[in-house]
Amino acid sequence: MTKIRLKKGNIGIAIGVVVVLVVLVAGLFRWKQTIDYQKTYEYQLQKHGYSEEDTAYLLEHLNDEQLENILDRDVDENIPKFMKETYYLEKNLDAYLTYFHEHEGETIEGLDRTLTLTDVVAIVNVHADKEWYTDYTNADISKDTSLLANKFHYLGEEYEPDDLVEVSNWYAYGDKPMLRKVAYDEFIGLYNAAKEDGQDVIINSSYRDYQYQYDLYNRYISWYGQKKTDEMAARPGFSEHQTGLTVDVTTYGANENTFQDTEEFAWLQNHAHEYGFILRYPEGKEYLTGYEYESWHYRYVGVDIATYIYEHDITFDEYYAFFLEGE
Ligand SMILES: [Zn+2]
Repeated sequence: MTKIRLKKGNIGIAIGVVVVLVVLVAGLFRWKQTIDYQKTYEYQLQKHGYSEEDTAYLLEHLNDEQLENILDRDVDENIPKFMKETYYLEKNLDAYLTYFHEHEGETIEGLDRTLTLTDVVAIVNVHADKEWYTDYTNADISKDTSLLANKFHYLGEEYEPDDLVEVSNWYAYGDKPMLRKVAYDEFIGLYNAAKEDGQDVIINSSYRDYQYQYDLYNRYISWYGQKKTDEMAARPGFSEHQTGLTVDVTTYGANENTFQDTEEFAWLQNHAHEYGFILRYPEGKEYLTGYEYESWHYRYVGVDIATYIYEHDITFDEYYAFFLEGE
């Protein structure tokens, strides 16, 4: 009897020991799990202040290095929002946040709406958060027909395309107008197609060299002053006309003020991209292009880019920043 009782006691102790061990191991396991979880970005992002939803988004879209970068910053609910923007560029994240926080709630000049994140992305991407002509780089001439010349991309005094051809006065006004051959060939296609539809699209100004632009710009300064001139005409070396890929057009009986009311303008709105041309300075995009709306100024960029720009209603500056500019 004693023996049995002892055995029962031993079993009781053994069970007790096993239970304690199990609880201990389970506890250790849980503790290890917790420690491991606290090392995860999921835990750290949420502890940093990101919602479950934002955390999930960030985890899905960023690599470890980018997540570390996010954790090094103050929590900002705008970060995942910016990342969801179509033309978001990671290299610009700091600039987006800075610009947005400086201008949040403001109305952009020329637009009657409050600044949106989409606006901020576009503004920063095209460098319009910087002052004109102060922080520019050299235009990347290797981009050929998709090279960008604007207030932040400088062609220089010497740049002259090596395939300029003389434009026949059949298509153009002026003394020996010139264009790059590729733009001229496409323009002839455009001209003929417009003509078939009963429209006369005539070139008013085409290639302009540095010196021409220098004289023009300074003449404007004397008439309009610096600020107005900079909204109307490029400084020498920064003009799209110096690329040889640009035409100012008109039609019979029209001038710069009335061209937008002509059938030719309506035709170009629908068909210019089919020949690789885009309206370069559209209405409502002045805050991005840095130029007043010019219904007459068209730029050759090739059919693919022109079609993208036409379909997505963006400027060439935005297209270039997102697809072509690189780091
Ligand atoms: Zn022009």
